[in-house]
Amino acid sequence: MIKPPAPPEAFAYTKIRQGEFWRAIPKYRDVDERTFLDHIWQGQNSVKSPDELLATVEDLVDPSFIEDAREGFRRAPMAVRVSPYMIASIDWSKPYTDPIRTQFIPLASRLRPDHPRLTLDSLHELEDSPVPGLTHRYVDKALFLPLTVCPVYCRFCTRSYAIGADTDVVDKVPLARTPKQWQDAFDYIASRPELEDIVISGGDVYQLPAKSILTIGEALLAIPHVRRMRFATKGPAVMPMKILTDHAWVDAVTAIVEKGRKLGKEVVIHTHFNNPNEISWITERAMRLLFERAITVRNQTVLIRGVNDDPNVMQLLVKQLGYLHVHPYYVYMHDLVKGVEDLRTSIQTAVDVEKFVRGSTAGFNTPTFVCDAPGGGGKRDVHSFDHYDRENGISVYSAPSVKPGKHFVYFDPIDTLGPEAQARWQHPATAEAMIADAIVAAGGPRTYVPA
Ligand SMILES: *Cc1c(COP(=O)(O)O)cnc(C)c1O
Ligand code: SF4
Repeated sequence: MIKPPAPPEAFAYTKIRQGEFWRAIPKYRDVDERTFLDHIWQGQNSVKSPDELLATVEDLVDPSFIEDAREGFRRAPMAVRVSPYMIASIDWSKPYTDPIRTQFIPLASRLRPDHPRLTLDSLHELEDSPVPGLTHRYVDKALFLPLTVCPVYCRFCTRSYAIGADTDVVDKVPLARTPKQWQDAFDYIASRPELEDIVISGGDVYQLPAKSILTIGEALLAIPHVRRMRFATKGPAVMPMKILTDHAWVDAVTAIVEKGRKLGKEVVIHTHFNNPNEISWITERAMRLLFERAITVRNQTVLIRGVNDDPNVMQLLVKQLGYLHVHPYYVYMHDLVKGVEDLRTSIQTAVDVEKFVRGSTAGFNTPTFVCDAPGGGGKRDVHSFDHYDRENGISVYSAPSVKPGKHFVYFDPIDTLGPEAQARWQHPATAEAMIADAIVAAGGPRTYVPA
């Protein structure tokens, strides 16, 4: 049988936003292309307060929206910083449901109470940290966090315990920020021959000056057993123009990639697109430049309610990234982060979205959906739970090669559960017993003894 030709809507992923779209924003009305593409201008004009937001979007939104944001900013655990590129990618006719607004601009009216089992460093990154700014959890790979600043701040950041300025609700833990601390991290890596793979994250390496990219890159390439490095940055998604205009930064990354290649070591960029609306002709040009330089770019998405938990949206994102030669690598369950229950989804949602996406494109461009198990179990395929109590929203994972013999529990957002389950979570002893039962059902030990 002949396969019928694909209908026109199947090509949606090839339709990339064009033109000077930023001119729809009052503050950017007279901004020309050269200025908008200037990464320094983007940094200087980032929105960090409700007043700056108002001065930028003016009458595109109702005063009640600004009031909602004002209270949202006050209660947020993360500092707020939104690039003009992101501001211009928001559909301001629907600010409450826009997927980019949802990620970066907190609104008090959308906040929900935290899950009772939520802690600030849910992944226990501080516990697996031998020196400040280095997390060594898996055998052969480590996470190096050399800075605490980012070009934008995401509401859902896993590292809200450390990233960005202190806020009214959180005092931040410092990561490795001084040359001495960097050296301690390099010394530790050099002392552990099993460490082959280093993720350089943060914060965001977009904010590292070119000479720091070279310092870190050279230091790690010089360690004989380090064979793979990844520079992690959300930059291409939130400020793609930097790749077109910050020549020193791009040249520094290119130099490390090329030096690594000559040494037989792989150096790549990992980025973080969450929604197709983040992609424009500027992104396309930036990704084309990296492709021409033979720099591999992989993507890690966070599954976020109202941003990409719709199977069609995720499918479009995956197809569009593949089209730009960005490999969709992971889709993460949203971590149990404070102040963002409105953004989390259930494990069932992830399972359903994964099922829909798989089969739409090349297997190597199909992301693995993972849950970074709270408590330091590391990333687990969302489908691999040992037990899933859907009624109470409790899933149990184990990680035999990471923390043998332990069980890790992830919790669906309470407001997505039925009224009876929601009521059960209100009683600490009942909640404790439900969790213990789920662990036993998963094959774990009975540890909870009712009073
Ligand atoms: C995610 C992560 C890594 C890298 O894991 P991959 O599955 O190889 O991408 C390394 N260390 C820590 C602590 C991590 O959270
Ligand atoms: S860019 Fe990464 S580290 Fe920075 S706020 Fe966003 S998620 Fe956190």
